[in-house]
Amino acid sequence: MRNPPPSIIGPPMKVLVVEDEKKVRSFIVQALSGEGMVCDEAATVEELLASLGSGGYDLVVLDRLLGSEDSLGSIPEIRRACPSAGILVLSALSEVDEKVRGLCQGADDYLGKPFHVSELIARLRALYRRGQTSEKGAKDTEISYGDLRIDLETQRVFRGESRIELTGKEFKILCLLARHPGRVFSKAKILDEVWDINHYPESNVVEVTIANLRAKIERGREPLIHSRRGAGYWLGEE
Ligand code: CA
Repeated sequence: MRNPPPSIIGPPMKVLVVEDEKKVRSFIVQALSGEGMVCDEAATVEELLASLGSGGYDLVVLDRLLGSEDSLGSIPEIRRACPSAGILVLSALSEVDEKVRGLCQGADDYLGKPFHVSELIARLRALYRRGQTSEKGAKDTEISYGDLRIDLETQRVFRGESRIELTGKEFKILCLLARHPGRVFSKAKILDEVWDINHYPESNVVEVTIANLRAKIERGREPLIHSRRGAGYWLGEE
């Protein structure tokens, strides 16, 4: 007897494939469909935004350059429409600083072209698993430390009565540190947990994101996040 298709084992992953080159797009869609994923396609930023209306995507494969448009600018729209979707950016601009720029703008992973389809599939599965785990962990929990309160269900952060608006990455870092007060997390560990990519230790994406996070949550209040030179970051009392 043949193995049942993956869609019978669990709900299929719903993927939006955004790529302007028809050949590449068809190739990706065919490969992902072969893995039991359900794909929608978009070739332009306009089509991408229109597709988001139907929502419900678990994953978005986002080609960086759509015609002459840089698709990174659409990431906030994707986040608004599909808050739990994993976003993987595909691009021929595979230089390290370009990768870091993509990640700074809110993508979850970045794959340079040309790529092996098996690597694309493995990364998408990893992103999906990560989304599932963080959703499960968020079911009935709240993290609090001193006057800091993180509502994991609504993803809202408070210090005392004041609500603090954070970006997705700032929120993830704060959750990571606040789950383990006093524990020191290295830069590599934070990159791994929050960005889940190969390490780029020469990049300062972690420092920049933490500096922004601290500016937001510590303004006029007790410091919460500390750094230890060469070791990493922790949350708690110094
Ligand atoms: Ca392209």
